[in-house]
Amino acid sequence: MSVSTIASDRSVCSPLPVLGRDVTVPLVTGGEVTYAALDYAASAPALQRVWDDVAAYAPYYGSVHRGAGYLSQLSTDLFENARGTVAEFLDCREDDQVVFTRSTTDSLNLLASVVPAGCEVFVFETEHHASLLPWRDAQVTYLDAPSTPRQAVETLERALAHRDPSRASGPALVCVTGASNVTGELWPVRELAATAHAHGARIVLDAAQLAPHHPVSVRDLDVDWVAFSGHKLYAPFGAGVLAGRADWLRDAEPYLAGGGASRKVTRRTDGGVDVEWHESAARHEAGSPNVIGAYAIASACKALTEAGFDTLVARERHLIRTVGEGLAEVPEVKVLSLFGDDSPRVGVISFVVEGWNSSHFAAALSAEYGIGVRDGLFCAHPLVRTLLGSDPQTQGECGAPEAAPGEKSLNAIRVSFGAGT
Ligand code: PLP
Repeated sequence: MSVSTIASDRSVCSPLPVLGRDVTVPLVTGGEVTYAALDYAASAPALQRVWDDVAAYAPYYGSVHRGAGYLSQLSTDLFENARGTVAEFLDCREDDQVVFTRSTTDSLNLLASVVPAGCEVFVFETEHHASLLPWRDAQVTYLDAPSTPRQAVETLERALAHRDPSRASGPALVCVTGASNVTGELWPVRELAATAHAHGARIVLDAAQLAPHHPVSVRDLDVDWVAFSGHKLYAPFGAGVLAGRADWLRDAEPYLAGGGASRKVTRRTDGGVDVEWHESAARHEAGSPNVIGAYAIASACKALTEAGFDTLVARERHLIRTVGEGLAEVPEVKVLSLFGDDSPRVGVISFVVEGWNSSHFAAALSAEYGIGVRDGLFCAHPLVRTLLGSDPQTQGECGAPEAAPGEKSLNAIRVSFGAGT
């Protein structure tokens, strides 16, 4: 099976070693194998360099911002410098803010909490649930799945040009993924941003799957915000980023109320309390921040930059080709794609195997070959149902039982890899 080629083909090994890459595990069928974790799209193993940096800092970490002691000053410097490193990594504009969050989901929920009143949000139904669902208080227009990148741009163009006047009382925001977590396909972000801006709308890029694989330039793509997660960018869990335009962030109430977000709190004569909130990124970082998480993200950004995306992209293309060619040799395999099998993608490939229950297939890859992949609907239920041609009302859910033998598959199998594979 082609995926095992990745596990054994050391010639395509990345210059970025990851922790636990060569873990040896016993197999249920006897013997043992060097385990290949090919589920990077869910969480990528952290880079050895990131763990080393965190371990070197661990004895010195302290609370940030308010401590007078040496360790607090050191931690404050590292935390604030991490913002600068992320801003550089994303090629942010001078006056953009970098807010440290818990994850991409958290970043997009933060943005949803600051959209101005009357904002209409445009989102393709193909998005990950983190981009699809946070907009509860805004007016949301869901756009149908396009079958080509050009159709995506045309669909957005039409939707923005014909905004329903009863919904158009406020600004418009477009939320789009840079690379699909299901098909790995690259979306035409620059063109979508140009279309959004031509209609006075803003755009937020969900770069959870793009940033670990490709350089993301806020200026070049001309997006207003970018969100990504540390744990998909070869850093540990627990920290993410929302970076971009300061105005909506500065004009809104803090995402969380509490210390750190407030500059001055005074008791009023009528017994109430007045609060002045920070105008910087700290406004949305109430509570003690995840300093180590931010530091680890910055370390990962530096490691990727130093390794060079040209090198990383070239290696990944090799892996994508290897897996694609291997899968093409198996007639029962159908690779899922929205834009066509040859469309550019990152190292994320989903497929179904005719006659196989996807969950059983994924379990067998792990138990018999030591290959860890993922099966299910990948938190993008509408997209996977569209790709599988299943009834939109199908009751499938993440981890749900698969279709009965002989029935159309309700779930898919996903193999994903990247730097360090
Ligand atoms: N967006 C995309 C495209 C994703 O693939 C994911 C996670 O798989 C998310 C958002 C959510 O990321 P997190 O779970 O780190 O919040």
